[in-house]
Amino acid sequence: MKTENRDVVSIKDFSKKEIEHILTYAKKMVPYAKGEKYTDILKGKILSSLFFEPSTRTRLSFESAMHRLGGRVIGFAEPSATSQKKGESLADTIRMADAYSDIIVIRHPQEGAARLAAMFAESPIINAGDGAGRHPTQCLLDLFTILTEKKNIKGNKIVLLGDLKYGRTVHSLAYALSLFGAELTFVSPETLKMPKEVINECKEFGGEPTSTANLEKAVKDADVLYVTRIQKERFADMAEYAKVKGAYRVDLDLLENAKKDLVIMHPLPRVDEIADEVDETPHARYFQQVWNGIVMRMALLSLILGATE
Ligand code: ASP
Repeated sequence: MKTENRDVVSIKDFSKKEIEHILTYAKKMVPYAKGEKYTDILKGKILSSLFFEPSTRTRLSFESAMHRLGGRVIGFAEPSATSQKKGESLADTIRMADAYSDIIVIRHPQEGAARLAAMFAESPIINAGDGAGRHPTQCLLDLFTILTEKKNIKGNKIVLLGDLKYGRTVHSLAYALSLFGAELTFVSPETLKMPKEVINECKEFGGEPTSTANLEKAVKDADVLYVTRIQKERFADMAEYAKVKGAYRVDLDLLENAKKDLVIMHPLPRVDEIADEVDETPHARYFQQVWNGIVMRMALLSLILGATE
C-alpha cells in the first residue's frame, strides 16, 4: 500500500484496506506517544503548520506528534500576521511553505482549500479541516477510538448528534463508518440535518442511515454516541443560530436508559452540549479521544514521510 508522499485531503481518497493499514500501524505509535519509547525517525524533516482558522487539539497534536518523532515545526496559527494580510493568494502561501518544509498541514475556512493547496505543493498536504467540508485526520482518530473501545466497527449502532449540516468531522466519519459497516442514526435540529451528498455516500456501501428527532430513543439503543457542537461560526445569520442554540444536551437524565457500555465521543471543543457531570461517568471517552489524536497523527506523519518504525 502506498501511503508514502500521499496527500490526506479527504477520507474518501483512501480505500478500506488503506484505512485498516493506518489503524493497525497507529497501534505501534502508542508507546512513543506515551513517552515510554523514544524515536527520531523524522529527524531533519520539517512540517509547515498553516492554520487559517482557530484550533487547539488539531494544531497542538500535529506539532506534538512531529516533535515526538524527532522532526521540527514551522508555521502560524494567526493568518493576520502573515502576507495574507497584504493580499497574498493561498496558492502563493502554499508555494512558500512547500519551499520551506517537507509536509504541510493546513486548516482553512473555505471548503476545498486543502484540495487546492495540494495542486500547488509538491510536498504532501494534510487537510486539518476545510470549512464545513471534511476533517480526515479527525476521522481516522475517531475510527481508532471506536476500534480501541469496541474491538470492531461493523455492527455497532452509532448515533451522530448535533450540527450535522456544518460539522466537518461528522461528514468524514459518516462516510468511513458506513464503509466499515456500522449502523448509523443521525439526530439533529431540523435545520442542521446531514447533507444529502453525505447520506448518498453512506448508501454506497449498502448502509441505510436513519434520521430521527427522538434523541432519547436513539441513545437507548446506541453503542456509541458521537456528539458535536453547533458550528456557530458557519452561520451567515445569527438569528438562525439563536433558534438552534441549546437545542440538545447530553446529561445524566438522558443517559439513564443508555446501554452500560455506551461510549460517548466528541471531537471537542464542547460548548454546552455535554453536561460536565457526564465527564465522571464510564461513558465519557472524549478526553481519551483527544489523546488518540497524537497516536494517529504520529502514525500519519511517519507513514507519509516514509519513515516507519
Ligand atoms: N474541532 C473540530 C473541528 O475542527 C470540531 C469543532 O470545531 O466543533 O471541526
